[in-house]
Amino acid sequence: MINGVVTHIQRFSVHDGPGIRTTVFLKGCQMHCPWCHNPETYRREPEIQVFPERCIGCRACAAACQHAAHEFSGSAHRYHRERCVACGRCVETCYAKSLVLVGEQRTAESVVAEVLADRPFYQPAGGLTVSGGEPLLQAEFACEILRLCRREAVHTAIETNLARPWKVVEPLVPLVDLFLADVKIMDDAAHRAWTGASNARTLDNLRRLDALNKPLVVRTPVVVGVNQRPEQIGAIADFLATLRNVRQYELLPYHPLGKGKHEALGLDRPPPEFHAPTAAELAALAATAARPGYVVRVAGTAQPAVDRGTGAPAQNSPP
Ligand code: SF4
Ligand code: SF4
Repeated sequence: MINGVVTHIQRFSVHDGPGIRTTVFLKGCQMHCPWCHNPETYRREPEIQVFPERCIGCRACAAACQHAAHEFSGSAHRYHRERCVACGRCVETCYAKSLVLVGEQRTAESVVAEVLADRPFYQPAGGLTVSGGEPLLQAEFACEILRLCRREAVHTAIETNLARPWKVVEPLVPLVDLFLADVKIMDDAAHRAWTGASNARTLDNLRRLDALNKPLVVRTPVVVGVNQRPEQIGAIADFLATLRNVRQYELLPYHPLGKGKHEALGLDRPPPEFHAPTAAELAALAATAARPGYVVRVAGTAQPAVDRGTGAPAQNSPP
């Protein structure tokens, strides 16, 4: 049995590949993009999110904890993250939902059983998507989930930053129908400064997957002050134009969903104040990104896709 840590399983997802999908989010990521809207996936280990504004002061958590991780002084409640082993006992007793356990050890078989329960909804184009965090930090677990779904003839996709050695990526090739990969910034120094990691492996792995004729969807989270300049998106498009199997290039406008989570997770620094580009700016970027060979799409807006370098609106067809 192969185990891993799952953040959550999202059913009926329509943003993680073609059709209706079941998306399995694995915990842990080697990049720490400050605009991430899922910072609960940064760390590999299960952990507790604390929302003090919901606490009613019942102290059930302190009674449940065998590690003295909840301390009360008068009405003040202090949670000692360093003592916590994420057993989840206090979470079960907290009816106010002030405490939330993020991450659960699962077997690949139990995950796939949950995925297969959704199979009636996959026709004609849906299936499984393995996501993160960065799922390739748990590569053996991810491969086993994909292998078991492939054995059941379920369409398989993976959302990955591809910033792993080729020997980690290569075993996915026969197991994955569609790769959805992020290219955030082409300039490597800027990429390192923002994400803490180089983009060299991502670009190299994209070239290798392309050479093997694997269908690719490439995505860029667009954040004002980070990568919203036309020449930055144009540089990514120039790179994608050198590949033959990019079916779609998606611009994902920044979303502030992750803001409140940093404090709940006890992360060191609150993220800087980020903004999404306007709809007009995104439309201009989509036109800038148009190249022969792939469709450009702005996610989450009514902005039409732009096709094949003509700059003309195109019907968005799932890869
Ligand atoms: S169990 Fe929940 S509501 Fe009760 S004191 Fe602990 S955190 Fe607050
Ligand atoms: S998860 Fe377990 S160890 Fe952590 S605070 Fe709650 S009861 Fe204590």
